[in-house]
Amino acid sequence: MTYDCHYCEQETESAHTITLYDKTGVEDRLEVLCDNCYEEWLLSLRG
Ligand SMILES: [Zn+2]
Repeated sequence: MTYDCHYCEQETESAHTITLYDKTGVEDRLEVLCDNCYEEWLLSLRG
């Protein structure tokens, strides 16, 4: 089974599920990222 990466929209077999929050921090949703986008997302969290 493959997933569509939320950022680059490419199919990935090693999906990383992340939780995104809206500006209020209340509502959230699950998104799937590929390896590369997941690494970049982790880096962006650390600033
Ligand atoms: Zn990606």
